[in-house]
Amino acid sequence: MTEQSNDTTHSSHNHGQCIEQALSTAESLCAEHGQRLTKVRRRALELIWQSHRPLGAYQLLAKLSEEGFNSAPPTVYRALEFLLSAGLIHKVESMNAYLGCSHADKPHKGYFLICDECQNVMEFDYQDIHQSLINKAAEHGFQLRSETIELTGLCQRCQNSQNEGPRT
Ligand SMILES: [Zn+2]
Ligand SMILES: [Zn+2]
Ligand SMILES: [Zn+2]
Repeated sequence: MTEQSNDTTHSSHNHGQCIEQALSTAESLCAEHGQRLTKVRRRALELIWQSHRPLGAYQLLAKLSEEGFNSAPPTVYRALEFLLSAGLIHKVESMNAYLGCSHADKPHKGYFLICDECQNVMEFDYQDIHQSLINKAAEHGFQLRSETIELTGLCQRCQNSQNEGPRT
């Protein structure tokens, strides 16, 4: 498993499983749609999945080039575009970074809980919110175009470590 222990997430879990799951979903989705999960696309997805902290395009570029991929910006951006359009990753606009999606097989908008402290991002699924936002906006004759909702705060783990107080 390629888990990085310093990149642990909001809650303790087997992150290797997250990565494995994401890659196998990606493979079956691509097969289903007759698309190719090329080496660079697959590796980009894997790198984005290294943690639940979104990864910036520049960081991704640096990692891929370290590994000897053709990491010319267009290659990397095309890979990102592919992953985005396949629904395998989301862009977290406020962080200008990319997050792996754990339920890529179900088309959805991105709703994110972003921890101010550890920068981990949790995706939550709340279609009702989206519909009522669309309705509210429509009351003002406004047509909503945003694809994501990004909320900031403190994750469970960071709350716990704050409650523990400073260790002396
Ligand atoms: Zn995980
Ligand atoms: Zn998602
Ligand atoms: Zn946190």
